[in-house]
Amino acid sequence: MATIAANIQQVHERIARACAVAQRPVQSVTLLTVSKTYSPDAVREAIAAGERRFGENYVQEGLDKIGALIELRGELEWHLIGPLQSNKTRVVASQFDWVHTVDRLKIAERLSDQRPPELPPMQVCLQVNTSGEATKSGLLPADLPAAARAVAALPRLRLRGLMAIPEPSDDPDEQRAAHRKLRELLETLRSDGLDLDTLSMGMTADLEAAILEGSTMVRVGTAIFGARSSAMS
Ligand SMILES: *Cc1c(COP(=O)(O)O)cnc(C)c1O
Repeated sequence: MATIAANIQQVHERIARACAVAQRPVQSVTLLTVSKTYSPDAVREAIAAGERRFGENYVQEGLDKIGALIELRGELEWHLIGPLQSNKTRVVASQFDWVHTVDRLKIAERLSDQRPPELPPMQVCLQVNTSGEATKSGLLPADLPAAARAVAALPRLRLRGLMAIPEPSDDPDEQRAAHRKLRELLETLRSDGLDLDTLSMGMTADLEAAILEGSTMVRVGTAIFGARSSAMS
């Protein structure tokens, strides 16, 4: 069985190859190690292999892991990449560094109000529903410009960019088309004057397509830690 360290090296090689194809500098893509469902010991292995940024989907699981690794807190960045309900914003505002899944102004306002003054601003991305299905979470593209302006104006947040979870597809062209939509939305916001630098897109199955379309942060779990049990994924 491949070790976590060997898997991490392979993921960095995938990122480097995709950057070469895209003619982008390899430092322009950050790896977010998605540790959801994996133990603090698995995270320690990833830390020993050089990773410092970890993504969690479930608030409580993330808080438990942050607590289990508290002696390393200053070295690590914890990113919430799962749904955030308004009754959980206070703990998230005090414990996490990033939230990728802001999908309405109310959540952003609460995070800004509740971010402790001694911490740097919370780094946030707006989650966009690029496929337009009513069942998916995320802002609809039509609502994005107004939401982005409002979130960017909040004092204790720093709006960094956009995040999406496209419909899974095995077809690289379809994967690219979904990622391209998010990139174009980011470009529109930038041309409206917002200072945004982050496109959080691409996972184990589609990180190459995401990098070809301008991803700056790929969120990778399975390729590093192995398959999750399906009930928890
Ligand atoms: C689980 C998850 C990932 C990682 O997916 P893998 O396919 O395991 O790499 C990335 N982003 C989000 C939002 C996730 O929930």
